Amino acid sequence: MSISRRGFLSSAAVASLAASVNAQDKDKNDTARHAEPLRAAKRPIIVCANNGFPYLDNAYSLLKNGGDTLDAAMNVVQGPENDPFEDSVGLGGLPNEDGVVELDACCMHGPTRRAGSVGGVRNIKNVSLVAKAVIEHTGHVMLVGEGAERFAVAMGFPRENLLTERSRKTWQLWKEFHSTDDWWGPGMASPQWKAPDTSSNSEPWNERLQRMEKRASAIGIDPEFRMAAIHRIVFPPTGTIHCSALNEKGEMSGVTTTSGLAFKLPGRCGDSPIIGAGCYTDQDVGSAGATGAGEENIKVAGAHTIVENMRHGMSPQEAGMDALKRIVRNYNNDMARLKFLDMTYYILRKDGAYAGVSLWEGYSPTEPHKIAVHDGTRRSEKTVPLLKGASQEFPPFPTLPAGLIQESEYYK
Ligand code: ASP
Repeated sequence: MSISRRGFLSSAAVASLAASVNAQDKDKNDTARHAEPLRAAKRPIIVCANNGFPYLDNAYSLLKNGGDTLDAAMNVVQGPENDPFEDSVGLGGLPNEDGVVELDACCMHGPTRRAGSVGGVRNIKNVSLVAKAVIEHTGHVMLVGEGAERFAVAMGFPRENLLTERSRKTWQLWKEFHSTDDWWGPGMASPQWKAPDTSSNSEPWNERLQRMEKRASAIGIDPEFRMAAIHRIVFPPTGTIHCSALNEKGEMSGVTTTSGLAFKLPGRCGDSPIIGAGCYTDQDVGSAGATGAGEENIKVAGAHTIVENMRHGMSPQEAGMDALKRIVRNYNNDMARLKFLDMTYYILRKDGAYAGVSLWEGYSPTEPHKIAVHDGTRRSEKTVPLLKGASQEFPPFPTLPAGLIQESEYYK
């Protein structure tokens, strides 16, 4: 399939969606529409973002053998943090607009009801563990920037260059081609924001992509990664991992770690280091975490909202749907803006019931949002979406002639 699939929802469908998604709507149909499959809650269990899937077996054995829940969750997220080819977390994460990798993380330890967080950390790969060290070795909850880096070094974490050659070359390509399509200026939440015109003739894009491909070749980006690098420049990606773990005794913990939005402004922190947004665990109730549009999640204190919803009787899925509806409400149901946002919540209740919910079904019809779960059986499951269809990446991209870029090249 070509990327012309970006011509997504018709305006009629969008209008009917807008009408159907009322954040204040307490209609019973709503509950029926998102009716949950009946699942027997099991403990122990680990729920995480799908990029944690390969690391679940090890963490599950840890938990099963009496390991601490935060240690088990940390075990999962260090996989992507250490992987140089995972460009949304830790080593190899895509950098900020200055070409510097800045990482964010936070965690909560349920049994001792403690929290730790670090934001905008440079040169330290395992920021999830640094957030845990904040819990264990300071009287603070959050450290940022240079202070957080110095603290990490004092705790024995090695300083290292987090910018891999692949990420550096992708950033260089972005730098050479970015113009007005960056993160400066009024954001989508501003009344001044206007939806860009996506109906323009695709010819300039066609030429631009061809120039980018030539440039990528000159920079030395591997041919097999070239179209994927271009994709990252045209649509600066987000990406993160959250993990929540629950043991047999009912103890639970959560952690979220990320390199945040690619090519962000230096110093930008998203939701991932914010306790209550990117991650929240309450030993009495449950644990939740988020990946997706960090700015939106901060405004609804997503993870905390979900845990509080469960405290007041909502099921994991209902609790997550309510948080998503608050995001929709913040945009007055305006699908012209919401189509550029996406959000996934990972939710685990103290009894082992869980849910994965997302604003949209996926980034494309062939790429549904998924969560990874291990409760004795390791598996990936599609999330339950609030809205039908795929989100559209930002900045918007006009429809290209079919076949210009093949999907196989595009999503490396
Ligand atoms: N939430 C992260 C951030 O905004 C990015 C992501 O989850 O994809 O930094």
